[in-house]
Parts: sequence; structure tokens; C-alpha cells
Amino acid sequence: MPQFARLAAGFVPFTPYGYAGRHEACALCGSRETLPLSRHDRRLKRLTSVICANCGLIRTDPMPTEAELADYYRHNYRFDYQLVGTKPPRRHLVRTRAEAARRVALLAPVLQPRARVLDYGSGSGEFLIEGQRHRWSMEGVEPGEAYSSHAREAGVTVHSSLPEGAGPFDAITSHHVFEHLRDPLATLRELVATLKPDGVLYLSVPDMGPSQKPAFERLHFAHVHGFVPQTLDLLAATVGFAPDPRFDRAGTTAVYSRTDIQPNPDPSLANRIRAGFNMVDPLKHVVTFGWLAPTIRRLSRDVRDTLRK
Ligand SMILES: [Zn+2]
Repeated sequence: MPQFARLAAGFVPFTPYGYAGRHEACALCGSRETLPLSRHDRRLKRLTSVICANCGLIRTDPMPTEAELADYYRHNYRFDYQLVGTKPPRRHLVRTRAEAARRVALLAPVLQPRARVLDYGSGSGEFLIEGQRHRWSMEGVEPGEAYSSHAREAGVTVHSSLPEGAGPFDAITSHHVFEHLRDPLATLRELVATLKPDGVLYLSVPDMGPSQKPAFERLHFAHVHGFVPQTLDLLAATVGFAPDPRFDRAGTTAVYSRTDIQPNPDPSLANRIRAGFNMVDPLKHVVTFGWLAPTIRRLSRDVRDTLRK
């Protein structure tokens, strides 16, 4: 399909995404029992999301394969979020700089000068730059070529994947990355293996806890997993980490350190997560024009980002 037609197809509501995927077990606890969550995403396209009945992890079902996800990123994703051209949009930089300053302030009380910090999914590098200002030794991992070269131009170290023999690090951070991963547990295991025994782990993902927003508006093709605070903690617990009481916690943004406490999925969580979603009928949403304002906002943002030099 030509690039334009393919992109346009990504905007047609009530049609499925062009992927087959596979029905997979929960990436966190291995259960195949699920509760239904939503059959549409924020573009009103057909996309089925379920909740693991055993642990509460939200996932896309069927799960796109690695190749299908890569294909989506190549052709659609940058029109949603990512830069077009060579520079991240100003709007993006304003947001990420503010977030980087907050993350540095959160970790500063426990990290000495020259502390080694890894940022997994370092994007355009704002946290790496801000950490360097605090005299920490910063390394990033970012597969997105345009973003990583923007960061390197600012004088920070960015790898395209986790290097062999990386670390040991005093802190590893990952901001809004794990919701994109097909196997968040495998990635986290690999990361914490490079962390010092007393190292800390900062994780932040979108919070899928209770909200008045229509359910489908909270779901997105690129977000193949959805977390609430309890499932983010379960992910950390499965690799031997627990929330560290020295740090303030804000929902699904938390700092963890090593623990002996065993992971313990809560089978009552799935129903509570489901109850926190506002199950608006997407068709009703369409005929009452509830979709119009957000769609116009999204399209104009896409066009603006596309035209921005
Ligand atoms: Zn599960």
C-alpha cells in the first residue's frame, strides 16, 4: 500500500488495524484467563484489549508480533507522537525538560556525584542532559535513530540497545517505555541484572487506574500493555524489587529497590480495574459528536508536527 493510503487507513474509524497478531498468555503471570475491557481504541478503530483475570495486567489481544509492531512504528507511530524530520517538536521538548527536572529532583537525595545512571528509552535525551548537570555519569538506550542522534548532538552517550557488559549502575530509569513492550518482564530482568545490589529502579508508565474518560480513548495500538500501580509493583516484585519508602510515589511513577518479598498476584484486581473504566459505547459517542473535538485536536497536531521543520 502506498505510504499515504496506509497512513489514511490508520485514521478510518470502526475498521481494524492491519495486523493478525497472536493470542498470548499474560506476559506477567502466564495466565490465559481474561476479562474483556474494550473493542476500540482512541482513534475509534477496532482494537481488542483485555485484562488478565489473575493479575490485572491489561494487554492487546491478539498481541501484535514483533514484526507487526516494528511495521506500525515505521509507518504510523511518528505521526502520532514522534518527530518528523530531524528535530523533536518544541512542544515535546517543553514537556520532556520539565519531566527530566522532576525525575532528577526525585533521585538526587540518594545519588552522589559520579553515580552511574542508565535511562532506558532515553528519547531526545533531556533526562541525560539534566543528570549530567548534576555530575552523574549518564548513559541512554534509545533505538529511535532521529531522537538518539539529537541527544548525541547535545553531548550525551546513547546506545541503540543495552550494550553487552553494561553497568553496574547506581540507578536505572525508564519513563513511558514499558507500556510499549511485548515482554516487559524479560526487558526488566535484563535491566536489573546491570544494577548494583543497592541500586534503585525508577519506572513510570501511563496510569490505567480509575478515570472518567471513555475507555476506548485510553487505549492505543502502540501501548500493548496497560498498568495500574499494583501491576507495576507486581512487575517489579517478579524481578525482586519493591517500592522504596525513601521516595514519594505518584501512581504508576515509582522508585524501587531490592526486596525478599515474593510476588503475589491479586485475582480480585481485574474486576476492580474494569470497574474504573468508563464503558461508553463508541457508536453513541460518534452520533453525539463526543469524538469531534478530540479528533480535530489530534489531526491538527499531526498536521502541525508533520509540517514543522
Ligand atoms: Zn497476568
